[in-house]
Amino acid sequence: MARRRRLPGPSCVFCARALIDIGGRRVTWSSCAGVTVRSPTGAVGNIPGRALVEPLAHPYKGTLLVLWPPDTDAVDRAVEQWADRHRPWVCQVCASRACGRCGSPEKHPFGTDVLGDDGRVRHVPLLPGPAGCVREGCPG
Ligand SMILES: [Zn+2]
Ligand SMILES: [Zn+2]
Repeated sequence: MARRRRLPGPSCVFCARALIDIGGRRVTWSSCAGVTVRSPTGAVGNIPGRALVEPLAHPYKGTLLVLWPPDTDAVDRAVEQWADRHRPWVCQVCASRACGRCGSPEKHPFGTDVLGDDGRVRHVPLLPGPAGCVREGCPG
């Protein structure tokens, strides 16, 4: 089945802010928060903790939108973005990948899946060393 890659939705499904206002990367999977669309058989795999599972309506019948932690407003935004042919995502602040000193996104959100401008999802491996901070001059 030929599918066009979905481009990122306009804003974080949890805080509704645009990436340009937050910085960092768009997260689709982290141990704290994430959003993904799956077939019913794959829905339980690799979801940390409690999640909301929303069956999608026509024309996406048979697929489930899975979002964690559970948040009904975020699910509504994610379903809307999916219906608009976008890929929903979570900002690093909402995914708890923010600098402990200043609250800006970490430079390296280790152990997450991130969504690029082109709609490609990449894994950021767990590496030794500091996660850093995107804010210039912050020692965090
Ligand atoms: Zn957010
Ligand atoms: Zn910082």
